[in-house]
Amino acid sequence: MKTYNDLLHEHKQAFIQNDIPLETIKAFLFELCSERDIDLYLSLDEKVPLELLEAFEKGIERILKGEPMNQVLGYSWFFGYKLKVNGDVLIPRYETEELVGNILAKIDTYYNDLKTITLADIGTGSGAIAIALKKEEPRLKVYASDISSKALKVAKKNASDNEAEITFLKGDMLKPLIEKNIKLDILISNPPYIPKDQKIEASVKDFEPHVALFGGEDGLYFYKEIFKDAHKVLKENALLGFEIGYDQKEALLELAKEYFKDAKIEVLKDINSKDRMMFIKEGGNYDE
Ligand code: GLN
Repeated sequence: MKTYNDLLHEHKQAFIQNDIPLETIKAFLFELCSERDIDLYLSLDEKVPLELLEAFEKGIERILKGEPMNQVLGYSWFFGYKLKVNGDVLIPRYETEELVGNILAKIDTYYNDLKTITLADIGTGSGAIAIALKKEEPRLKVYASDISSKALKVAKKNASDNEAEITFLKGDMLKPLIEKNIKLDILISNPPYIPKDQKIEASVKDFEPHVALFGGEDGLYFYKEIFKDAHKVLKENALLGFEIGYDQKEALLELAKEYFKDAKIEVLKDINSKDRMMFIKEGGNYDE
């Protein structure tokens, strides 16, 4: 007989050897229990049912081979919303929740008096940003685009599972918005921004879609693509928000100043004190 406590301990050595954080074991078991309405922390000394035991052992085996836990589970949590994930989409990162939180705060600052605010999430992947924003701010009319049909399929399922009304567009960067003559108050993107030759963790490199990760030689390719066409899809006084790589602040500030001459441009750090978000606000009076 095995208890939940046994499961929490018996793979520790293997996780250490494979350089996978030990918290993953608890997080994985916690999710398997939650799915079955079992409270892990009230059940630590109880016998684990066979079906759960098998799911746990199989999953742990995959995780030890490097597969991300959320792909094994088939879902991830983002801003409190449950989202399906698979190998066709980037697993939403905690940093991106911070991007969403900051956008919501800026909507309060800049768009308090608007009844409808038009926003697009470019390169939506799992739909995480678009869905969280629409759920948290119902005044938003949300568009979400992606070049990958497989990603859009996941994003559409996530939107319907979470009852978030979003208009999905298939296409490269801003192209589908330009073609449909859509004009935005807010443009958001977490584009692929890792430089082509940068070394990244094996579990990311081997299991997550490269189309969502790599942004050309310097990682800046997709920002340039968006910046150069942005004014074709923006209303006056628009807000833009981007996730950025921790070492891209200077290069992106310079680039943004070229394209958004009189805008207020700021870079914010994430909870790990890494430069992680850039906001560009056009027009208006910035004495806040
Ligand atoms: N933050 C992601 C990572 O480190 C990269 C996401 C992106 O390129 N937009 O894996």
